[in-house]
Amino acid sequence: MKYLISGLLIALMMHVDAQDKNKLKKDTAMKFNELNAFEKYVIEEKGTERPFTGIYYKHDEKGTYLCKKCNAPLYRSENKFDAHCGWPSFDDEIKGAVKRTVDADGRRTEITCFKCGAHLGHVFMGEGFTSKNTRHCVNSVSLNFLPESKK
Ligand SMILES: [Zn+2]
Repeated sequence: MKYLISGLLIALMMHVDAQDKNKLKKDTAMKFNELNAFEKYVIEEKGTERPFTGIYYKHDEKGTYLCKKCNAPLYRSENKFDAHCGWPSFDDEIKGAVKRTVDADGRRTEITCFKCGAHLGHVFMGEGFTSKNTRHCVNSVSLNFLPESKK
């Protein structure tokens, strides 16, 4: 009986210890914004919103576009242009904010948030829309917008 009790005590102490470690892990982990089902579909499952439906497609306010998931600044309004494609288009990103990964079939290059890995869309080169010859085709739902006046 005595052994059983001390065994139980040790097990209990180990359990508490493990819980503390988990709590610590949670506290130091990156804080993410809550995503709704559609945002999760695009951002985490690499989905695509329907063209001409996103709130930032026809949006020309001055400011900064942030990652919907982790708030990292990704694009500036001065790099936004209308490619008539139905999605927000940018010819440049904020330096170091966007990661490029060639799709498995080698045809397209996926763009993700460098900080948290959120799926943004795809980047296309050589289309000649702007002098930078680059089009980041980004889902509105992957972005939040911070107007310049509220910085
Ligand atoms: Zn992010």
